[in-house]
Amino acid sequence: MIRFNQLPLRLRLTLLMALLLTTASILLMMTSVFAARDIYKQDFQRIEGRPEEFLSRKPIVPLRPGAAVIQNDREFTTVGIISTIIVIVVGTGLTYLIAGRALKPVTDLSQEIEEIGDNNLFRQVRVPPSNDEVSKLSRSFNRMIHKLEKMFDAQKNFSANAAHELKTPLAAMIANIEVLQLDDRPTVDEYKETLEDTLKNAQRLSHLVNDLLKLNAEQSVAIYEKIEARDMFGSIIDELLQPIQSKNIRIDDRTADVQLYGDKPLLYRAFYNVIHNAVKYNKPNGVIIIAAAENADNTRITIFDTGIGIPEDQLDKIFDPFYCVDKSRSRELGGSGLGLSIVKMVIEKHGGEIQVQSVADVSTTIVIRLPKPRNKDDR
Ligand code: ATP
Ligand code: MG
Repeated sequence: MIRFNQLPLRLRLTLLMALLLTTASILLMMTSVFAARDIYKQDFQRIEGRPEEFLSRKPIVPLRPGAAVIQNDREFTTVGIISTIIVIVVGTGLTYLIAGRALKPVTDLSQEIEEIGDNNLFRQVRVPPSNDEVSKLSRSFNRMIHKLEKMFDAQKNFSANAAHELKTPLAAMIANIEVLQLDDRPTVDEYKETLEDTLKNAQRLSHLVNDLLKLNAEQSVAIYEKIEARDMFGSIIDELLQPIQSKNIRIDDRTADVQLYGDKPLLYRAFYNVIHNAVKYNKPNGVIIIAAAENADNTRITIFDTGIGIPEDQLDKIFDPFYCVDKSRSRELGGSGLGLSIVKMVIEKHGGEIQVQSVADVSTTIVIRLPKPRNKDDR
């Protein structure tokens, strides 16, 4: 059996109105019939008792003998019932028509949405000129479609970039092996060279796949550990010692006595990526300053480098996956443009924020704010 709230809105409104009309009309009819009967009865009794007094005034209905009064009463009731039925039928019909008109914009909107299919997934619906709920709903729907379109495009770009990044080292590996196969008698040195190249490309692939996995992992920050900033940054600097020394970069670590709170491996990876960039894009004999400060609510970490900088118009793009200011240079340095996307994802998962300031060819400053746990016992 169909339940009332499963019926179309127009029908529900009509049925409710019919119920209301029926109740009101029946009540009204009953009241009139009983009131009329009462008057007949009283008049009849009074006439029978003191006819001369009542004959002098005009009664509500012409006075007739008892049987005629009963007949009159029946007629009155019948007319009442017929009028009630007419009121209910006409009222219900009118309600159905009016509800149909009032709900037309909703019906149109739902029809437009139903017409959206695979081939016109991001079609915007028409916004009615009125400023009512339906026009607000249409606008909200269009906004949602626009956001979905942007997300869909970003996802498509991400897949295309990922495929391209994976294809490049694979193509290089295949080309190297094919060149070796063309040689009838390759020397040991040629084998060695091909192996070295293959290893380098395989490492690049593995690095890329790891980054992709990290970026897509639905990892949430479960535990907020207390981390000594100095220890964490010390380990990162140790890990990057080889490129730091080869470029003769001076590191100024000003993070003593500051604590961070969060998922240790995730934060380590995020800060490693930022400092790695500060080293990678630094100039020979450059400087890196890592500073930390805390207040009651958060810890602020600033990483400054005297490197090549980032042009102003590209500052907001460097957090997009696979974005590199200079693609060929990044590739030469073994990068794929995923580092800062991972940093942003990690910092946002911690409820923090990341900002970048830079002067092209002079310096870059990355500022990261991490919130402290609300509960003081966790600190
Ligand atoms: P990956 O980190 O994946 O190895 P990547 O370093 O190229 O590769 P990101 O770390 O995401 O990628 O950085 C994106 C781009 O932003 C870099 O290609 C570089 O052009 C620019 N960039 C980032 N940090 C700096 C910096 N400290 N100085 C100058 N440019 C930077
Ligand atoms: Mg990087």
